Amino acid sequence: MRDVVLGRLRVSRVYEGDGVIPLAVALPGITEQDLARLRRWYWDPDLADALGQANMRISVHSFLLRIDGRNILIDTCCGNDKKRSLASVSDLKSPYLENLVHAGLRPEDIHLVMCTHLHFDHVGWNTRLRDGSWVPTFPNARYLFGRKDLDFFRTQRHEATHREAFDDSVVPILDAGLADIVDPETRIHKEIGAGIWLEDVSGHSPGNLCVIAECGGDRAIFSGDCFHHPIQLVRPDAEFFADENPTKARATRERLLAGYANTNAIFFPAHFTGATAGRVEGDREGNFKFRFLQA
Ligand SMILES: [Zn+2]
Repeated sequence: MRDVVLGRLRVSRVYEGDGVIPLAVALPGITEQDLARLRRWYWDPDLADALGQANMRISVHSFLLRIDGRNILIDTCCGNDKKRSLASVSDLKSPYLENLVHAGLRPEDIHLVMCTHLHFDHVGWNTRLRDGSWVPTFPNARYLFGRKDLDFFRTQRHEATHREAFDDSVVPILDAGLADIVDPETRIHKEIGAGIWLEDVSGHSPGNLCVIAECGGDRAIFSGDCFHHPIQLVRPDAEFFADENPTKARATRERLLAGYANTNAIFFPAHFTGATAGRVEGDREGNFKFRFLQA
């Protein structure tokens, strides 16, 4: 993704890595007709014609927002050196921090870290390993965690990988006194002028938050995990395997698509590959597609 400039706001992508999930596992309701509809506007070499061979490729990345001299990081990927029950994300050695430097900033330059939700692939770089302990990666930042997800993952510790991530990537931030607990409708940017706020997009997780920024240009929507792949614009109703509350997640997807189709708002989904950002288009029959910005 190239940097996107929207008024006073510059958005960069800081890349960690790709992941691949069999489509039939991630979205069991998808049909070959759905794939054919998607192929009219989106091509992906992992999406084979036959459902049994089709894979869903996702990108894991952060978004870096620069506005009025402040640097904000949205979501912090999986992180390095972390032991995870899910083998594909365990003990990673990605050049994420080098990619941040390539984008022009050091960890010390980040003022605010916002986790849209507390799944393992959104909190990992909150901390890094130093002399056997997990220490805040961004020592000068305040970290914002949603209250609902914090309460949920503190108590409902059902999935090992999320539990492990909570312990090594959220708890050390709480212990260091760097966390601010926020609710939907919080204005996270009020100290430096209007323009960035949170909205409730729960469903994928109990407290999934969307970050919305409007700073003298088109609206930017950091939708977290409301969408993982463009196929979900073809079938927003299809159940996604990692949605905590599938009915609510579906309603959230449909609300966002109906609300923003054919507007200038630009979506920055947490897992779309390639150009990543784009606008939603819809027709009268309720069919949606994603018009990617230039890669
Ligand atoms: Zn995710």
